[in-house]
Amino acid sequence: MRLRAMAKINLGLDVLGKRADGYHDVRMVMQTVYMYDTLDLTMQVRPGITVETNLPFLPVDKGNLVYRAAQLLMDEFDIRNGLHIRLNKHIPVAAGMAGGSSDAAAVLVGVNRMFRLGLSGSELMKRGVQVGADVPYCVMRGTVLAEGIGEKLTPLPPAPDCHVLIAKPPVNVSTRYVYERLRLDSSTVHPDIDGLLAGINSGDLRRVAAGLGNVLESVTIPACPVIGEIRECMLENGALGALMSGSGPTVFGLYENGSQAKRARDILRQSGKAKIVYLTKLFHRSASS
Ligand code: ATP
Repeated sequence: MRLRAMAKINLGLDVLGKRADGYHDVRMVMQTVYMYDTLDLTMQVRPGITVETNLPFLPVDKGNLVYRAAQLLMDEFDIRNGLHIRLNKHIPVAAGMAGGSSDAAAVLVGVNRMFRLGLSGSELMKRGVQVGADVPYCVMRGTVLAEGIGEKLTPLPPAPDCHVLIAKPPVNVSTRYVYERLRLDSSTVHPDIDGLLAGINSGDLRRVAAGLGNVLESVTIPACPVIGEIRECMLENGALGALMSGSGPTVFGLYENGSQAKRARDILRQSGKAKIVYLTKLFHRSASS
C-alpha cells in the first residue's frame, strides 16, 4: 500500500499562552501544500514493526513517529501480523512543515485500511493526538483553523489558489528553543488571525497575504537573520506575502503569478541563502491524493 504524506505551512500562527502541562495554547491556520513523503506499507507474517528510510540519520525504532503511529493502532486492535514501513522523505526534516506528523497520520490511515479496522477520520484524529499535536490536522488536511494545542480543528473554505515558494535555509532551529524564548506579555505583537480568516472566507488572495503572521518570528529572526533575509527576498521579487512556517526555519511566499514565482525561485537559488528551494501549489482537501 502506497501513501503520500503531505507537508503543511502555517498561514497564521499565534501562541495564546503556556498551559500547566507545558504545552502552549495556539491559534493556527494550517494549509497543506503539494510536497510529500511516500510511504510503502507491507503486511508481514512475522509480528513486529520494521521501518526503513532513505535518510540514515532518522530513527527507525520508537523514535520515528511512523513506528509510534503503527504501534498505537496495532496494540489497540491486537493485530498479530507484522508491518514493514518504507519511508521516503522529501519534506525537509525539523523544518516547521510537520513532516513527521504527516508521516504518522499517513500510517494511521494506512493501518486502518490495511487491517480493516473501520475507524472513521475523526476516530483516527482522536488517536493521532497521542502521537503528536499536529497529527490530527495531518489526517484532516486542507485549510484548517487549529486551536487548543493544535488538535481542536475547524475546517475552513480552501484558501485561494496560488503558487507557493518554499525555502529552507541551512540552519537548525529547535521547536523547544523557540517556544522557551517566546515572550508573551503586553509588548507581544500578535498576528491578526481573524483578519486572515476573513481573507480566507472571502476567497481573496491579497487579503490572505496581508493577514499572514507568525508570532514565533519574533524569536527566530533575531536568532537566524537569514530567515528574515529570505522573506525579504521573496517580497522584493513579487510575493504577495511571505512568512516563516511553524517554528521555522522554512519560509514560504505566496505568488499570484507563476512566472514571477519561477523568477523568485531562481533568484533565491542563486543567492545561496537557502538549501532547499521548491515551487509548488496548495493542496485542497477535496482533491484526491
Ligand atoms: P513541526 O512542523 O510539527 O514542528 P518539524 O518539521 O519541525 O515539525 P519533523 O520533520 O516532523 O519536524 O521532525 C522533527 C524531529 O522528529 C526530527 O528531529 C526527527 O529526528 C524526529 N522524527 C521522528 N520521526 C520522523 C519522521 N517520520 N520524519 C521526520 N522526522 C522525524
